[in-house]
Amino acid sequence: MASFKELGLSDEILKVLEELGFEKPTDIQAESIPLLLEKNQDLIGLAQTGTGKTAAFGLPLLERIDPNNKATQALVLAPTRELGQQIAEQLHTFSKYQKKVSVLAVYGGAAIVNQIKALRKPQHVIIATPGRLIDLIKRKAVKLDELQYLVLDEADEMLNMGFKEEIDKNLSYTPDDKLTWLFSATMPDEIKGIVRKYMDQPLEVKVNTKNEVNANIEHQYIVVRRRDKEEALLRILDSDPDIRGVVFCRTRLDTQDLAEFLMRRKYRADALHGDMSQAQRDKVMKRFKAKSLQVLIATDVAARGIDVNDLTHVFHFTLPDQNAYYTHRSGRTARAGKKGISIAFIGSSDQYKIKMLQKKLGIKFEAKEIPSAEDIVAKAVEKWCHEVLDTKTKGKLDDQLIEQANILFGNLSKEELTAKVLLNELQKLNIGSDRNLNDEFKQRGEGGRSDRGRGGRRDGGGKNKYKGKKKFDRSGRSSKGKKKNKSSGSFAKDAKNRYKRKKKKA
Ligand code: ADP
Ligand code: MG
Repeated sequence: MASFKELGLSDEILKVLEELGFEKPTDIQAESIPLLLEKNQDLIGLAQTGTGKTAAFGLPLLERIDPNNKATQALVLAPTRELGQQIAEQLHTFSKYQKKVSVLAVYGGAAIVNQIKALRKPQHVIIATPGRLIDLIKRKAVKLDELQYLVLDEADEMLNMGFKEEIDKNLSYTPDDKLTWLFSATMPDEIKGIVRKYMDQPLEVKVNTKNEVNANIEHQYIVVRRRDKEEALLRILDSDPDIRGVVFCRTRLDTQDLAEFLMRRKYRADALHGDMSQAQRDKVMKRFKAKSLQVLIATDVAARGIDVNDLTHVFHFTLPDQNAYYTHRSGRTARAGKKGISIAFIGSSDQYKIKMLQKKLGIKFEAKEIPSAEDIVAKAVEKWCHEVLDTKTKGKLDDQLIEQANILFGNLSKEELTAKVLLNELQKLNIGSDRNLNDEFKQRGEGGRSDRGRGGRRDGGGKNKYKGKKKFDRSGRSSKGKKKNKSSGSFAKDAKNRYKRKKKKA
């Protein structure tokens, strides 16, 4: 495959790509960059999520800017503030050695006066959400009459969000002879309308569109009752402390509720949805990117297109209504050639949805079991034992203190002491109940999961014998010492494999 250099990019750009560690172009980049550099034609670029579409349009866009012309020459429209900011950050980075090219993101929710101030300087490339751009045009802070390039990123989402009129209005301020580039992972009917309306005989670059879903994603589902979903999520998170991911809910309210549920249990989680202020959203995204959050609970809209490195999992707390949303959701993992897991939480009557997704998206789902409370407890005990074994005491404790403890424990056998200390430790765990959460009852007779090896339900009445008054603070957890996992849940096995892979790399 061609190198970035062979695609015709300048030395300034090549230097940044090398610094970023982009060794070779992705397929969509290799195919679209030469066309966008050379041809004066509209273009549609379709490629799976996480395959570097931002650079595919961003690099040629930056190359085409004339720094000596102070007019705004390029506009990128994106559905959300997060995505707009992310595109702007990437373009900033890419333009690092193109000293005179200026890039600015403008979006709603932030003070307009600051944006107006920034726009007094020439901005060659503007990245905008549609609503805010109209305000800025009306206030004469942005002029688009010399625009040469328009990029539509995630255009279908802009339409879903009801931005159609805003897009029309914005575009009415732009010259007819500009070039329009549209990039997306999916091509729903709404986009076809855009293409007809805004584009002129566009070139089409399609990469792997037979499978619009990123092939590095492993698709799984669990069957769980509505009321057990929260606990099932906890069990999966507890089965592997290395999980980092996004949990998708359908409504803002569900998103908020689930995030609060997790936070109350001391998980490092937070919500991202449209009812939050921009300052709140920024804070959450920053923490998530810095890994101080383990899970982000998000709506489809809020998390569209966002690129966070190394997410291991995407959870569908409820499945989306539209197939394309499944593609966009699951594409938050397995980015830039990495691997990831997408897990759908479905009700026992929803299995037809899985079949439909398999058929429509050309993917294969695997049924998984929710780890049992015993699995998690066994793992926790093992981990704790290894931590105790690995603890170095030499020179860290005063002999007097040890003696004091030994006097107090003097009458206990080793077995009794172990039992007491262990129980004390287990009381810190978060397990709500030791019920089997897999909704197996209704599944029997559907033929889908007869190979599961477990009979009826072991409904323990929802009691938890380990439950104590103390809360387990997850922020203090380490992932050490889980070398041998005795466990029947396949999530535990996944975790074990991931751990092995990590060890190999280290
Ligand atoms: P998409 O818009 O297709 O979903 P992005 O443009 O957000 O994907 O890119 C996904 C990730 O891949 C980003 O973190 C980006 O920095 C990285 N990336 C893009 N191109 C390359 C490349 N050629 N080599 C390595 N990483 C890349
Ligand atoms: Mg993108």
